[in-house]
Amino acid sequence: MPTRARSFDLRGAALSLQSAGARPRAVVCLSGGMDSTVCATLAARAVATAVGMRELLELKVDLFRRIGGSALTDASIAVPTAGEGEDASHRTGADVPVTYVPFRNAHFLSAAVSWAEVLGAKTVFLGAVEQDSSGYPDCRPAYYAAFNELIRTGTRDGDIQVVTPLIALRKSEIVSLGVELGAPLHVSWSCYSGETEACGVCESCALRLRAFAQAGAVDAVPYAS
Ligand SMILES: [Zn+2]
Repeated sequence: MPTRARSFDLRGAALSLQSAGARPRAVVCLSGGMDSTVCATLAARAVATAVGMRELLELKVDLFRRIGGSALTDASIAVPTAGEGEDASHRTGADVPVTYVPFRNAHFLSAAVSWAEVLGAKTVFLGAVEQDSSGYPDCRPAYYAAFNELIRTGTRDGDIQVVTPLIALRKSEIVSLGVELGAPLHVSWSCYSGETEACGVCESCALRLRAFAQAGAVDAVPYAS
């Protein structure tokens, strides 16, 4: 971690957290982006002040590249700049941007819940954000309510819960929270295009830059412009 650029959305990872005692345990989904970095820091605080064990399970979901259908997974679809993202021609549906990866979060959550069931963890953290996000349907609270219902029905004990502590926060509030918690935002990566330098103009860079500006914080990630 962090994974970068296009691999940012092709790969995810899950981090298991365990308190010094036998319980509680939690699994945290990480993409390497700003939101999941803050979420992981928050989860570490929530589960245990002294984390007893950390284990990383990297998920390389190459099938997304084969399925395509998103600017983040299909080389034939251009990554829009912030201004283009507001253009209807860059939307795959009424309000869904072309950077949406079809049903991606369900894949990551399924792996995380499988792992949680084996570990005995009762909580899966995921840094989904509804406000200030790009309109992804898998960042809506209703999606997670439905997923939790699926877990109740489809797991051995039905007692694992997906939690999304950032979902109602604005991006600037997430930056402020990250700074307050000491989250390693300097190693998080949000750019959809850049590999070694963030482009500064894609939708994700624009959201990040605006959030840091509004929070009055300095973004240590290198930008091309
Ligand atoms: Zn960018």
